[in-house]
Amino acid sequence: MRFTRRTLLRGAGAGALAVLLASCTPRTTDPDPSASATPSATPTPVGEVPAAAAFVRSQWATDPFAWGSRVTRPVGATDADLRTLAEPVAERVFFAGDATDPDRPGTVAGARASGERVAIDLSAFATTDERVAVIGAGIAGATAARTLADAGYDVTVIEARHAAGGRLSTAADEDWPVPPQRGAWLFGAEDAGVTTEMALGGATFATVAASAARGAAGEETFSDGTVVAEAIAEASGAPTDVALADAIAETGVPDSDALGAYLAWLSALTGIDPETASTWFAPELPGGEFEAATADVSAVVSDPLDGLTVTYSTPVSGVIYDDTGVSLRLATGEALTFDRVVVTVPIGVLQTDAIAFDPPLPFAHRGAISALEMGAIEVVWLRFDEPFWETEAGLWHVVGPLTPEETASPTPTPTPGAEAAVDRTIRSWVNLMPATGEPILVGIVGGPAARAVADLGDDELLTLAAESLAPFVGA
Ligand SMILES: Cc1cc2nc3c(=O)[nH]c(=O)nc-3n(C[C@H](O)[C@H](O)[C@H](O)COP(=O)(O)OP(=O)(O)OC[C@H]3O[C@@H](n4cnc5c(N)ncnc54)[C@H](O)[C@@H]3O)c2cc1C
Repeated sequence: MRFTRRTLLRGAGAGALAVLLASCTPRTTDPDPSASATPSATPTPVGEVPAAAAFVRSQWATDPFAWGSRVTRPVGATDADLRTLAEPVAERVFFAGDATDPDRPGTVAGARASGERVAIDLSAFATTDERVAVIGAGIAGATAARTLADAGYDVTVIEARHAAGGRLSTAADEDWPVPPQRGAWLFGAEDAGVTTEMALGGATFATVAASAARGAAGEETFSDGTVVAEAIAEASGAPTDVALADAIAETGVPDSDALGAYLAWLSALTGIDPETASTWFAPELPGGEFEAATADVSAVVSDPLDGLTVTYSTPVSGVIYDDTGVSLRLATGEALTFDRVVVTVPIGVLQTDAIAFDPPLPFAHRGAISALEMGAIEVVWLRFDEPFWETEAGLWHVVGPLTPEETASPTPTPTPGAEAAVDRTIRSWVNLMPATGEPILVGIVGGPAARAVADLGDDELLTLAAESLAPFVGA
């Protein structure tokens, strides 16, 4: 049995509580920041966690234009896969996006760098009188389109959604004094380039610092991550790549709730599944402080698109290419022709048959696409009329089992062939009260828990959120 299985299974009983927050205003993953606000119903406090006045959730794991949150490397994938995907195909088809940057894969910074890189790659084959299509209006597509247009190319951006931004998605809503972010919004020191650019576009940031850990019995210990760092260091020199959970098991350190909560936090930030994540190409481990976006971040994508031809609500379903050019098949049934195309859709989309390439992509590209993994992260933003907590800690960790049944019941033995139960407890929360003065809590889940949470209905999610927050009532 792997190290983390006990903690991963532990939350399987979650959801036993009655619906506590049913009077909230739901919002799902909707990239249209102009959607008008629905007035909040009067909150009805039930139990100890009061009803939130409003909530916003993401559902990236079931979003057909993403199928997850950020690229991750499972055992078997390497940096070479990211580089391979970045290789031009037949001098006509070029790839960018967060799955093509070996330096910062799965990040806004990496996606933006890939947009600059692909413009240089394409220019090595093209002349500036050519027509270039860019598929996807996320930060990679917007950066590529702007760089190519500035170089003189005739650029058309084709985007499946009705707005730009992709996995940078601010829900501009006057009901919210701090606009909810469904996508990337927590940045570390290494992201200074991106946050500076976002700030130039009007984004503001607040530092989230100091953490608190609590469980059913009150205060708890949280792991400082040393065990995980040591396991990765040890495994990085092993003759074969092993999954993070196996590498931790190899250290011989006993299983603990504190470590389970740390792994939940690591998954919430990176989207990894510890059971599959590579230790040769390990995820970045979390630092102590974060800059949290407290205003609209969309200008970093919309500004570069200013003045360009962008076609929204138009999924591309086919890319047909030969040595004379590229024809794009649109979901509308139309076809458009270009000299070259830049494809920036997420790896999760490339792993489906949503876009048919004709001829099929080379084996190397298909191998890279199938080796990489789309990690999962989901967020739920809850706005309360009054705080029900006192702690000034900006980061909360929920440690250990929360219900008496979970505590008492032994770990179920997985039946072969049966779907493994997953700990869905929302173990990581950002408390925006100290940084912004607003009683807003943001729950974050990652990995298999995020996929399970994405499948929940709004009422089930709110029940789970209330259950997960119970240790912080009055704390
Ligand atoms: C919840 C969450 C938290 C994150 N946290 C962080 C973080 O803390 N730090 C960090 O650096 N990064 C974070 N990320 C990752 C970061 O957001 C992404 O790596 C980055 O935004 C990817 O940009 P992109 O342009 O490559 O892809 P995207 O932004 O996904 O853009 C691709 C575009 O292609 C469009 N598209 C898809 N299919 C089609 C089609 N068939 N036809 C036409 N268009 C199509 C999509 O709609 C989308 O607009 C997070 C992501 C999520 C979801």
